[in-house]
Amino acid sequence: MLISGYDVMNDLDAARKDFLGTYGDWKEEYRDLILEADEHSARNMYQLPVGHRWEGKAGITLIGDAAHVMAPTSGEGVNIGMLDALNLSKAIVAARDVGEKGALAEKVRGYEEAMFVKADELKRTTRMNWEDMFHRDAPGVLIEGFVRRQGLAAVKQETASDTHQAHQRKL
Ligand SMILES: Cc1cc2nc3c(=O)[nH]c(=O)nc-3n(C[C@H](O)[C@H](O)[C@H](O)COP(=O)(O)OP(=O)(O)OC[C@H]3O[C@@H](n4cnc5c(N)ncnc54)[C@H](O)[C@@H]3O)c2cc1C
Repeated sequence: MLISGYDVMNDLDAARKDFLGTYGDWKEEYRDLILEADEHSARNMYQLPVGHRWEGKAGITLIGDAAHVMAPTSGEGVNIGMLDALNLSKAIVAARDVGEKGALAEKVRGYEEAMFVKADELKRTTRMNWEDMFHRDAPGVLIEGFVRRQGLAAVKQETASDTHQAHQRKL
């Protein structure tokens, strides 16, 4: 079924018209990107489900997208990939310091457990942003979501700071 109403993969003129319908009032430079394009391609976006994990296996592990590919709707893929590299290197160094047989497998499992938790957290945000970005009332819904979440974070921070100050006053 053609959800867009045209052949997205092959009909460049229809794609151009469709994009101009949405971005026609954007700055000229951005509009030119659409007007000047002489080829286009549609790509699928993939995401592993929240809760995706595997049984630890000595001698092998994964980092980056191979471990937790997620849609680009929160811009976190590279960040967590680099965090994985850092944490895995720490796990390897820690295993060397322990120096016992089996330490490496145990430390790598520790790396994996923490990575699964972090990846799930980011996959949830990515999914939430995805739903807002592709909502029929986007980008309003997306902006509202950001404002609400930022507002909540600010309130939480303020409450934590008030509690801390009250605690300090009692001491
Ligand atoms: C449209 C889009 C926008 C994005 N925006 C952001 C963003 O703003 N911020 C952010 O943090 N992340 C973003 N990401 C996600 C980010 O690009 C990825 O999370 C990141 O590149 C993953 O790095 P990686 O090294 O794990 O995997 P990859 O970058 O996929 O690297 C894997 C490499 O392995 C190679 N390879 C595959 N199979 C083999 C094989 N058999 N032999 C040898 N080599 C092989 C591939 O060619 C590739 O070069 C975005 C992704 C997309 C698609």
